Amino acid sequence: MNLKEEITGQTTKHLIWSEEDNTYIHKDVLPKLQHLKELSQSNGIELVILSGFRSFEAQKGIIEKKMNGTRPILDDHGEAKNPKDLTPSELLESILRWSALPGFSRHHWGTDFDIYDKNGLPPGYQVQLVPDEYKEGGPFYKLNEWISELTSQDKSSDFFLPYKRDLGGVAKEPWHISFSTSTPQYENSLTYNFFINFVKEKEIPLKDVILERAQEIYNRFIKAYFHYSTI
Ligand SMILES: [Zn+2]
Repeated sequence: MNLKEEITGQTTKHLIWSEEDNTYIHKDVLPKLQHLKELSQSNGIELVILSGFRSFEAQKGIIEKKMNGTRPILDDHGEAKNPKDLTPSELLESILRWSALPGFSRHHWGTDFDIYDKNGLPPGYQVQLVPDEYKEGGPFYKLNEWISELTSQDKSSDFFLPYKRDLGGVAKEPWHISFSTSTPQYENSLTYNFFINFVKEKEIPLKDVILERAQEIYNRFIKAYFHYSTI
């Protein structure tokens, strides 16, 4: 097992391909996810994964598309910003609000999923993954209520919502669930030194600005959302 490669989305060796979910899933998570789906069904919800595992290269591609304007950079109200109007530092900040740096997405681990409720979908509706869909009156409000309750009881739940609150870094993502048991080893290994060494060694968009603001970026967008680790 190469932990560094697992953390940074450079291997799928610890994962199993799930045809049903159309994604790779951590081998320890697969049965737990199945259980969660069954539980959702008994509550009138059909939990579906919109996005699961993402590789380093896939995450890098997302960031590059946001930088060159082929994928929108949204503000907190869902309005698109023009990357040309932003300084490199502002661009980095705007991107990190909704997307992780390549190498540092929880989606690299195979333990994290963006979910929606298929039963809540109006006919012909395209899922957008925006906060309004999970609020009262939105198609996935029921799912949000259910999963919030389930994961807030205590830490014995198999899953939790790492982006449940906006802590001044990553925006609130009520659709993002994370598997509890596998994440401590990843979080504990993802130290500041790990972060800075990886950024230095890799070709990562906006690398210079990231390195200038490394400690702040690490604290605000990575460490602040750890569930277990207090490193
Ligand atoms: Zn997510």
